[in-house]
Amino acid sequence: MDVAQLQPANPPVAQVVPETALLAFRDLPAETTQAFLALGRVRRLAPGEVLIAPGQVPEGLAVITSGAIAVERDGYRLRSFGSGVYLCEGCLVRDDPPEVTLRAVDDSQVYIVPRERARTFLVERPEFGVALLSRLMREVFSRLEATNRLSAENHALARALENNNVELQTTLERLADSNRRLETEVSIRRRVEDENRSLARLASDSPNPVMRISMAGVLLYANLPSLPILSHWRVAVHGRVHDQLLAEIETTLNEGQQREIEVMVGDQRYVFTLVPIPDGGHVNVYGRNVTDERHAAEHMAHLANHDTLTGLPNRKRFLDRLTDAMGSDPTRGAVFFLDLDFFKEVNDTLGHLVGDQLLQTVARRLIAIVRKTDLVARLGGDEFAILMAGGITAGPAEVHARRIIENLSRAFSIEGHNLHIGVSIGIAFFADGPPVVADVVRNADLAMYRAKADGRNTYRFFQPDFDAELRRRRELENDIRTALADNQFVLHFQPKIDLATDRVAGAEALIRWNHPRLGALGPGEFIGAAERSGLIVPLGDWVLEEALRQLGDWANAGVPPIHVAVNLSPIQIRDEKFPARVTSLLRDSGIDPTLIEFEITESVAMENVDHTLKVLGELADGGVGLSIDDFGTGYSSLSYLRRFPIDKIKIDRSFVLEMGDDGDARAIATSIVSLGHALNLAVVAEGVETEEQLQVLRDVKCNEGQGYLFSRPLPPDAFEAFVRDRAIG
Ligand code: C2E
Ligand code: MG
Ligand code: MG
Repeated sequence: MDVAQLQPANPPVAQVVPETALLAFRDLPAETTQAFLALGRVRRLAPGEVLIAPGQVPEGLAVITSGAIAVERDGYRLRSFGSGVYLCEGCLVRDDPPEVTLRAVDDSQVYIVPRERARTFLVERPEFGVALLSRLMREVFSRLEATNRLSAENHALARALENNNVELQTTLERLADSNRRLETEVSIRRRVEDENRSLARLASDSPNPVMRISMAGVLLYANLPSLPILSHWRVAVHGRVHDQLLAEIETTLNEGQQREIEVMVGDQRYVFTLVPIPDGGHVNVYGRNVTDERHAAEHMAHLANHDTLTGLPNRKRFLDRLTDAMGSDPTRGAVFFLDLDFFKEVNDTLGHLVGDQLLQTVARRLIAIVRKTDLVARLGGDEFAILMAGGITAGPAEVHARRIIENLSRAFSIEGHNLHIGVSIGIAFFADGPPVVADVVRNADLAMYRAKADGRNTYRFFQPDFDAELRRRRELENDIRTALADNQFVLHFQPKIDLATDRVAGAEALIRWNHPRLGALGPGEFIGAAERSGLIVPLGDWVLEEALRQLGDWANAGVPPIHVAVNLSPIQIRDEKFPARVTSLLRDSGIDPTLIEFEITESVAMENVDHTLKVLGELADGGVGLSIDDFGTGYSSLSYLRRFPIDKIKIDRSFVLEMGDDGDARAIATSIVSLGHALNLAVVAEGVETEEQLQVLRDVKCNEGQGYLFSRPLPPDAFEAFVRDRAIG
């Protein structure tokens, strides 16, 4: 390298450097600055010439050499350097001990410039710079390489670290997780153990079977009451239960919910409550023997749905089944409504024992002749019904009806009696009207009523044009049942006046019905229906009871004793037990029997003379009075009637009505009165409406009069007021 070329001719550097150096030297001690100012020029060094002591190179300066320099100490070369740039703060001089000497090795130039000038310097001296640059580049590259290597190493290290970290993290997490699992497991185990202990405690005291079965079907635990079950299953503790139960165990665990199953163990029925213990992987089984309970319930259900006498389904069951049948097919099916003919007569004359057996036999016969799919039920009394579900039409229905009639017309042999009854059948199809259960039954009932009215022992199909009167009568009959239960009946009292004294001689009790739909009804509108349905018996009992109760009330209210007449229906008299009931009712009421008088119509008295005589005899023996009502209408002879234990006759209203103008009526009245008196009977005239009639009755010495002239039938309060108004005779 031509060093001379590097030397500026007119050393410009020297001009530049000092200014720059000055700036840079600012913080140096003055001598150092001075020294450097002196050095602040480019100078050719002679070989071996001492450049500077390293400790004297101030910071911020660059030493640029074009040739090699050596660092020596005590005459020994420590290091030597090629040409280049040496940063003062670098390793070259500054860190070397001050004793060392910086000596030019060859004929080199040395520039000492401020550090920031170094680059400019190199640019300004390119030939100098190339060598420097390459050297610098090498240095830079090697540094870069080193840095790269380092950073790669660092990177790898960092990655490794990071990996390690991640691994560590996952390991930590895994650890934490398993720790958590362990903790839950421990707590679960603890809980299960607790639970085990409490189960054992509970189960050992329990009279019911308690078992624990694992999800694999292994019987883990069983208490003593489980023994009968286990012995039937042939399974011991630690043995496996049968597959069916295992399936239930699995279902319970899968659903995770308590369930109940019903299990037959031999002839015993158990309800098992299965309680899943998912933590433990098993199911607790709490058993309860429900055999007796179920039998009782079945029995109760049977009782609720069946008639005890015949064992047939009862009305409720029939209606339920009919509802079902109509629900599934509202158009196809029929109801047969059966009412036995003359059953009441058998029951009344031969007694309930025979009546009951007759009903049982009828039930058996009906069951035997209907199809398997038909339902025979007893609706009550002598009423039966048959439900024929499915597509039955008029033709086959007729065949069924005929067969039933034919069968029940055959004699029944009961308790040595050969009994003949019959049956009236009404048939209604579901499709006869809107699909309403009650309507179908009512239609069949109405058709039955028609069959009865048409002569009994026959069948009728329901017709929509059944006349309103028939309907009304039938409905009225059915309503009486409800009316009795609901207290819709009341008694009114019509005064009877002693014609000699003009005082109240007594009263006739007359029934009234406050019908919820039809309003106030008189006896003429419902007594017939009550008689046809047989309900007159309980209704008649009610009238007597009510009359007695009213007498008791009046007695308590201080009203003087009143004779009360009660009307009797022929049906009541037919009932053999009637006198006994009267006796007990009178006894229970504590009322003097002579205050009660029964009125029977003439035709009734003539109907079944022997029987009537017997019943009336018993009643008279009990102390009650008897009178013949509506006398004169029955064309019976009074002397014949005298065989009855009667005290009184009541001249029918029709004679009294004509008394004013009709000479014959007046003659009949006169003769009745005198005949009555001749036979020692009191005579009462009913239907007295006018003064004229009253006058005639007084003339012929009739004892008592009853009619609108004196008073209409009155409610109890009004009657009491009437009595208080008039002195009682
Ligand atoms: P009955 O026993 O001949 O009763 C007399 C009927 O004549 C009563 O009619 C009464 O209101 C009516 N009457 C009374 N005075 C006169 C009058 O001056 N003019 C007219 N036109 N009528 C008069 P009611 O209450 O309608 O009773 C009718 C029938 O019903 C009774 O005739 C009786 O046979 C029967 N009956 C009433 N209550 C009962 C009862 O509790 N049981 C039974 N089995 N039958 C009863
Ligand atoms: Mg009467
Ligand atoms: Mg009368």
